[in-house]
Amino acid sequence: MKKEGCIFCKIANGEIPSKTLYDDEKFRVILDLGPIAKGHALILPKEHADDLYELPEEIASDVLILAKKMAEKMKERLHCVGLNLVQNNGEAAGQTVHHFHMHVIPRYRNDGRKINWVPGSATEEELEAVRKQIVE
Ligand code: AMP
Ligand code: ZN
Repeated sequence: MKKEGCIFCKIANGEIPSKTLYDDEKFRVILDLGPIAKGHALILPKEHADDLYELPEEIASDVLILAKKMAEKMKERLHCVGLNLVQNNGEAAGQTVHHFHMHVIPRYRNDGRKINWVPGSATEEELEAVRKQIVE
C-alpha cells in the first residue's frame, strides 16, 4: 500500500523522478539528494511502512540482501574503501522522512565525514540492569 502524501512512496513508485540505481517489483534504490559522500544512496521499499517497526519481516530481510548487492556495486564502480549502513527510526533517532529507508553510504580514505558517535560509559551494574530490562 502507498500512503497519501508520502514523497518516498511517490519516488519509489516512479511518480516523481529520481536518480535511480536499482529498480525491481519490491524496491527502488536512489541517490540521496543531500549526499554525505559520493554515491550516498537510499533503499526504498515500494510498499509504505513508516519505519522498521511497521516493516514486514520478509521485506526487512530482503533489504539487507539488497544493501549487500549495492555495497558490492559501489566498491567495484566507485572504489570506496568502506561503507556505512544507516537506518533511522523516529524523530528521536533523526528520521526526517517517515517512509522506511536504508542509507547506503560509501566511504573513502580520509573523507572526513562523521557518522560515528562519541562512546559513552556504563558500569557493570548498569549494563546488567539494562540487559534484564530488555530480555527478562
Ligand atoms: P532520514 O534522516 O534517515 O529520514 O533521511 C532522509 C534522507 O532523505 C536525507 O538524507 C535526505 O537528504 C534525503 N531526501 C529527502 N528528500 C529526498 C528526495 N526527494 N530525493 C532524494 N533524497 C531525499
Ligand atoms: Zn511512503
